[in-house]
Amino acid sequence: MGANRIVENFIELSGFDSESFHEQAIARYIVDRLVSLGVEVRTDTTDAAYLKAHPDSFPNIYGFLRGNREGTPLLFSAHLDTVAPGNGKRAYVTEDGKIVSGGDTVLGADDLSGVVAVLEGLERLREEGRKHSDIEILFTVAEEPFCEGSRYFDYGILKSRNAYVFDLSGPVGRAAISAPSIISFEIDIAGRGAHAGFAPEQGVNALNIAVESLKDMKTGHVDEETTVNFGTIAGGIAKNIVPENVRITGEVRSLSHQKAADEADRILHRFQQNARKAGGIAHCCRNDHIRAFKTNREEAVVERFLKAAESIGISSPKLVATMGGSDGNRLWENGIQTMVLACAMENVHTTGEYTVIKELERAAELALTLMTI
Ligand SMILES: [Zn+2]
Repeated sequence: MGANRIVENFIELSGFDSESFHEQAIARYIVDRLVSLGVEVRTDTTDAAYLKAHPDSFPNIYGFLRGNREGTPLLFSAHLDTVAPGNGKRAYVTEDGKIVSGGDTVLGADDLSGVVAVLEGLERLREEGRKHSDIEILFTVAEEPFCEGSRYFDYGILKSRNAYVFDLSGPVGRAAISAPSIISFEIDIAGRGAHAGFAPEQGVNALNIAVESLKDMKTGHVDEETTVNFGTIAGGIAKNIVPENVRITGEVRSLSHQKAADEADRILHRFQQNARKAGGIAHCCRNDHIRAFKTNREEAVVERFLKAAESIGISSPKLVATMGGSDGNRLWENGIQTMVLACAMENVHTTGEYTVIKELERAAELALTLMTI
């Protein structure tokens, strides 16, 4: 019980290979765990199109635990997938109370810490016979690639209008009440190839179009709530050929959806204009992945969190805006007041990822308290 069980659970889950779109094994294990905790589980709530496209994945797991008292139904969520490199993970407990990876993979604390915290909350509800209202669980797949898995979940079945997503780094007590829209884009610039020495003037240089377009474009923080990044550029085929094709990819994030949309359109428009001027063409593709949300501090979901945090001795809980997306964005988009809670994951998306056992215990304590307060 307590710390030992949490550590054991964490290490066990970390032992699964569960990179995005390959969650089948861990998901089957989680279904059994939930059933053993008295939770009614449904896996028929994810659109078939997703499962067809990703046969090694699994439906998003929905669980329902009937309350034994009146009260607001609450949804607890975390994701089952990890980023790469996430196969062959080994978890080591250090002398100073951390769990670290072998150094050649991520640890998977993002988001297995969240999964462990919610499961531990359920364990303790049961063994301590605690009173709680209806609890819903949503363990999603393929969250890392811009929340792809949760795109296909049937939100119509949810009773809850308040949700806690355990999926944030930083000390337990930190909580995101707003998160950005994320829009990615691909720009394929098509010019015309030509011999670089014999007839360069017959070519339309796609690389020049790219450079011209990027020249005065601001990247990084373009205002206090918006970021722009060009992530990849590729093109050309040889040193002595005027480059015919260049491909650029990037993304925009903003806490304001309108700003993100406007900024993305502005960027794409600039490439199209410059390409046309030079006699080429820019094919642009804009993908809106998730939508920005902001939960008001006055909402019951926030009040409950603050009360729970206080009751477990978190002296100064921090309500923040995150620039990371999560399934919280999807929930909010589907009419659910959402907070994304820190749950003992650090250096995420790197092979130096780790969790702190004491923090993991606190995250579980927080889950249990939210369920019962
Ligand atoms: Zn995550």
